[in-house]
Amino acid sequence: MQNELKQTKKRVFSGTRATGRLHLGNYLGAVKGYIELQNREDLECIYMAVDLHTITTPYDQKTLKQATRDIIMDYLAAGLDPEKSIITVQSLVPEHVYLAYLFSSVVSVAQMSHLPTFKDKVKQHPDNVTMALLNYPVLMAADILLYNTNLVPAGLDQEPHLEIAREIARKFNTRFGTNFPLPKRFETKGTYVPSLTGEGKMSKSVSGSSIELMDDLDTIKKKLAKVPTDGGRGEKVPATGGVANLLKMVELFQGEAKRQEAETAYVNNGLRYGDLKASLAEAIFAELQPIQARRKELEKNPDYVERVITDGARKAREIAKATLTEIMEKVGLSS
Ligand code: ADP
Repeated sequence: MQNELKQTKKRVFSGTRATGRLHLGNYLGAVKGYIELQNREDLECIYMAVDLHTITTPYDQKTLKQATRDIIMDYLAAGLDPEKSIITVQSLVPEHVYLAYLFSSVVSVAQMSHLPTFKDKVKQHPDNVTMALLNYPVLMAADILLYNTNLVPAGLDQEPHLEIAREIARKFNTRFGTNFPLPKRFETKGTYVPSLTGEGKMSKSVSGSSIELMDDLDTIKKKLAKVPTDGGRGEKVPATGGVANLLKMVELFQGEAKRQEAETAYVNNGLRYGDLKASLAEAIFAELQPIQARRKELEKNPDYVERVITDGARKAREIAKATLTEIMEKVGLSS
């Protein structure tokens, strides 16, 4: 049984791609969950900036290292604590890639190429349909299972990838007698934060879709001003599009009662979007302000950030090496 002697707590793993600064979707759908779980005594948490996943879509090698540090600094500013969680960068733990290679031997090309997330990326970057892109869910399964992870705090968009991780775990357990747990997604209230454009989810890779954690009040106001709306009155509150998305943000930042109030106004006297957007901007900024202040302090202390990453990598590798050694034996490779 993998790591059974050493592992005393259930494990949590999650990561964010270093493709841009964290936005409200990452924060509400993932990072808030990371923080909630790191405060539980019964869990050991590992959180990474997953830079190997970044290179599955076009990227700039000159800025990747800084983008990776930015994710780690945003994590720390948002409240991740290196005393409670292992916090590091994926590429510093090369065992992820090794395990992904072993996993790729039980996954069919057809299945990977039919995944909606793969098809979306093919549409976005038709000139960059690479093996790395096809292999994304396999590497993600390795990220998770390398630590015998039980819980993965992540947004709703990651559910199909988690299903692949469970499938690989089952296949390996059956074929090679491993003992991987079947990892479950840990869901927060903001599991799906919609895009400001009115279509799809808020995402780093869709321009104009997001509010970033470091946006100031003025920027937030300007971004909200662009959300498409309607006349503010009707028989039924729209279930999709800009208005629906604005109301979802009201619910997430100002509460269910405030959303109800806005919905009642919509079907009665009419909803004034100017007022709604102004108070929503204030509510969002109030939550982000302390994070931004901590981030400014961290920027003055790059040595501390490097120490967090190095210490995290050392701790993660210790677990990763032990798992990999056992797996290599079970699959019949010399170790
Ligand atoms: P992005 O799609 O912005 O590049 P990532 O793929 O790096 O984000 O995702 C990092 C984490 O943030 C994942 O757990 C993902 O599920 C979560 N996440 C991303 N976008 C959203 C969103 N709009 N709503 C909720 N969670 C999200």
